[in-house]
Amino acid sequence: MDPAMRHIWKRVFYRLHRTLIFPKRNNSGHAEHTAFPASSHSKCIKPTLLVSRLYQPSNLRDVGQDSRLAGEMTCKSQRLMQQAGLIHPSNPGCYYYLPATVRSMEKLVRVIDKEMQGIGGQKLDMPSLCSADLWKTSERWDLMGKELFRLKDRHGADYCLGPTHEEAVTTLVAHQTTLSYRQLPLLLYQITRKFRDEPKPKFGLLRGREFYMKDMYSFDVSEEAAYQTYESVCQAYNRFFARLGLRCVQVQADTGNIGGTVSHEFQLPADIGEDRLLICENCSFSANVETLSSNRTDCPQCKTGTVVESKGIEVGHTFYLGKKYSHMFKATFNNSQNKPTIAEMGCYGLGVTRILAAAIEVMSTEEGIRWPGLIAPYQVCVLPPKKGSKVDEASVVAEELVNTLGETLPSLRGEVVLDDRTQMTIGKRLKDASRLGYPYVIVVGQAALEETPKYEVICQQTDETMFLSKDGLLDLLGRVETV
Ligand code: ATP
Ligand code: MG
Repeated sequence: MDPAMRHIWKRVFYRLHRTLIFPKRNNSGHAEHTAFPASSHSKCIKPTLLVSRLYQPSNLRDVGQDSRLAGEMTCKSQRLMQQAGLIHPSNPGCYYYLPATVRSMEKLVRVIDKEMQGIGGQKLDMPSLCSADLWKTSERWDLMGKELFRLKDRHGADYCLGPTHEEAVTTLVAHQTTLSYRQLPLLLYQITRKFRDEPKPKFGLLRGREFYMKDMYSFDVSEEAAYQTYESVCQAYNRFFARLGLRCVQVQADTGNIGGTVSHEFQLPADIGEDRLLICENCSFSANVETLSSNRTDCPQCKTGTVVESKGIEVGHTFYLGKKYSHMFKATFNNSQNKPTIAEMGCYGLGVTRILAAAIEVMSTEEGIRWPGLIAPYQVCVLPPKKGSKVDEASVVAEELVNTLGETLPSLRGEVVLDDRTQMTIGKRLKDASRLGYPYVIVVGQAALEETPKYEVICQQTDETMFLSKDGLLDLLGRVETV
């Protein structure tokens, strides 16, 4: 076709497309017709939503070589996360969390906040630099041995980097002498970095030396009330894992050096898990092997069922502490007779960074990451055709689509990226998209230029491919849950 004619046809097409296919909507939701097509569409899309601009360096170094250098063992989630530019190793058990990981972590934190605040949890933030005095009072300064990162300040005073905060929170509560029974249960939690000099850091974020944990501490008026609180936290944990679409087993657990009497672990069944679990085929009994004395195969609860062993990744831990710490640090409340009374305590951990990696571990394929949809860094990736291809015009449609989705579906604002690396073939970019695991990938090609445009939608979680009209697409994506 004569280049001039081609130009005119292109403009006609653009105008039709702007006015009929993707009319702009005004505040009242009615279509508003624009007279002119946007000239440089990429300008409208924030650079942070262009794949070419995302800081997600992949294959910085060979993953195998990295971990061999650090003497660490690797696993699927670590390999995939490193290859996808989600994490980068710095020193043993310590990682850079790259931008996509931070996006996912922020979402995970919002889901956790919702569940914790739903049962009355109040969020605070305690110092990571913990005075040795507190840890000497609880006798854990010696008990923790080499796991504690210790340091001295300029005055020669001893400190540690907090691996957990029973001492710190209990002394905080002890300082408030006016705490009334009417204010209990008191549930305080934080989501902060924890430091543990693990003997064998390994498997990427699954066992680090510096990691994020959600730790909550409860203070109650009586043992009975404390058990009720304990139960409500366990229920919140189960709801939380269900919300992420993760199958989690709550097992009886050992109380270790934290102390207390009752404890449960929340375990994600996985072959690389370091915990051995016994699950009864007949009743609800499930326990960590550590809690049972012999190598028994019969179920201690129902007596008739057989227990089968499976491996699990511990993603959460709950402890009923009783008065252990509140007695030591004198954490009291004033009872109904206004008499100071020692509080009953519980503590509850969730391994935030471990959950992220464990979810990837159990959901992904060998080739690509699959996320719990709710916490995927981005929900949608739109692929325009390769530059110079026969359907080059569809690029405009793709760019428009990114904007339209953000405008029409407020929950997807900031969640739709455009893979503008149009020097690469669709195939190559699809492969990348599959590795990164965007829940929805939309290919804008020939079908998008037809009279009734169709978009190829790949739902990566279910491995389904569909050809949808714009309305069909909006309907599908309008149902995507985001946090
Ligand atoms: P593990 O037996 O795996 O060492 P733990 O019993 O020492 O765990 P807790 O003290 O109960 O762990 O900590 C609460 C949660 O923090 C754990 O359930 C886990 O999800 C997470 N966690 C513990 N240690 C690490 C670590 N080194 N790296 C990442 N997450 C961790
Ligand atoms: Mg440990």
